[in-house]
Amino acid sequence: MLKRRVVALSLIISLLSLPVAAQNGSGDMLARIRKEAMERSQIMKTMHMFTDVYGPRLTGSPNHKAAAEWAVKQMTAWGLDNAHLEPWDFKHPGWLNERLTAHLISPVKDPLVCEVLAWTPSTKGTVQAKALQLKLPERPSQEQLTIFLDNYKAKVRGRIVLVGKPDLIPVNLNPPPKRTTDEQAQQRYGPNARPFAFPTPSPTPTLAPGAPKPLTSRQVSEQVDAFLKENGAAVRVNDAGREFRQIRAFNNPTFDVNKVIPTVVMSNEDYGRISRILDDGTEVVLEFNIVNRVYPEGSTSYNTIAEIRGTDKADEVIMLGGHLDSWHAATGATDNAIGCAIMMEAARILKTLGAHPRRTIRVALWSGEEQGLLGSLAYVKEHFGSFEDPKPGYEKFAGYFNIDSGTGRVRGAAVFGPPEAATIVRGILEPFKEDGVVGAVITRSRRVGGSDNTSFNNAGLPGIGMGQDPIEYGSHTWHTNLDTYERILEDDVKKDAMVVAWSVYQLAMRDDLLPRFSKADMPAKPAPAETSSQPASSSERTEAQDAKPPAKSKSRTHRSRHRGR
Ligand SMILES: [Zn+2]
Repeated sequence: MLKRRVVALSLIISLLSLPVAAQNGSGDMLARIRKEAMERSQIMKTMHMFTDVYGPRLTGSPNHKAAAEWAVKQMTAWGLDNAHLEPWDFKHPGWLNERLTAHLISPVKDPLVCEVLAWTPSTKGTVQAKALQLKLPERPSQEQLTIFLDNYKAKVRGRIVLVGKPDLIPVNLNPPPKRTTDEQAQQRYGPNARPFAFPTPSPTPTLAPGAPKPLTSRQVSEQVDAFLKENGAAVRVNDAGREFRQIRAFNNPTFDVNKVIPTVVMSNEDYGRISRILDDGTEVVLEFNIVNRVYPEGSTSYNTIAEIRGTDKADEVIMLGGHLDSWHAATGATDNAIGCAIMMEAARILKTLGAHPRRTIRVALWSGEEQGLLGSLAYVKEHFGSFEDPKPGYEKFAGYFNIDSGTGRVRGAAVFGPPEAATIVRGILEPFKEDGVVGAVITRSRRVGGSDNTSFNNAGLPGIGMGQDPIEYGSHTWHTNLDTYERILEDDVKKDAMVVAWSVYQLAMRDDLLPRFSKADMPAKPAPAETSSQPASSSERTEAQDAKPPAKSKSRTHRSRHRGR
């Protein structure tokens, strides 16, 4: 067994030592891909459309659908085959925020920086009211929360309610580096790198003997929602809890505007200011005008699909993709219009160069990623099934490349499969050493989390998550109101498209599919409860995750994922 593996490995190594072009007869394909990617890139044009023209692209919203329809038209114009929208059942209506004004009226007049929480209702016109702050107990038990809220029953009617104490965000004297060092990249993706694994979740603090069990932050938040609705509060205000007026606004976890009151996430600076004035015993008057709209037709959402049809192995499929849906506080440039623009560009490059891949190359721009990888999970289930319950497409699947970690250049890849699979991908990436691409590692994790590549891993299929330099992803743009077109590093993303175009082409041309886990080696599928609920990031272990500030204890702005980005 061991011996056979050594022989196979040395064969691979000797093949890899041939010039890459000689292995597949692709001649100067690599040079042509580089030239097309660097000199005639369409990425920034695509980014302009996805962000400036159609953003934000919340799942189920008409904006998302319009962006997807534009992508179908554009990919068709580039000559791709069979570009179309593929519906899946989101089960929630679409939602958009159309208008938001927020002002401090008294004791001084000043505008406030806020974002609306998604799937919450409008105010009834302009609402002006006294502010009230609920300083919730820390990690309350059900009994403690009930007693606390009962105390406020008579006081919240008609009020604008600040929920929780403001977070204290210390000045950061050690901002995270924007580039991964070569040494770090080697550790992550070099030949001696350990397989990727999800970080182990921090243990829940142990309770003192006899102490009542605390509610989860989500349970607290939902009970506060119900309490405010029942007792006629006017507006709920959450603290963004981030520096420099960054705001991450996610969603009302019920997706039902009738279950909650109008809700905003306010910049930590404004929230703290109001809170300090209230602590002086001074009355504060606030004013909001919020207009949101619900779109029942959004309960059907769409993945956007297009292909370059294969030749002698056309029924085998190699895929590349990213998620087109975004959060709504900005135009979703780094998360993840850029992943879509890069993958579209990689396909455009191959089509423009007249590539005739042996296998079919298929682009997918997912939706519902931000609500739990819903679009890609639905697609994988429909087209491929899983190791335990395969569909005919399962055995013919050649791999899925995913980009969803922002604008940085690619530094390596994490491949779901046995070590031989990583060896092959490492060989394919070899020509990009000078561009900072280090190599590939394997992952054995079938946990759904991070990004859409894990929907494939979860099924036992070879998902390939591309790891990128962090740039400003974890520190500034990921899920925030700062995630706009301006944050794209053009030179990095052009190179990303070049790397992906070459890699996809190589996997489309090889004689064999990527090696997969044998029946005996296939990692067990985690039980649904084990799927992670960390914040999403894309290529599994991303720099963004590494740079992520510690998880907050308060729940206000959460995403309802059964997974981790
Ligand atoms: Zn994303």
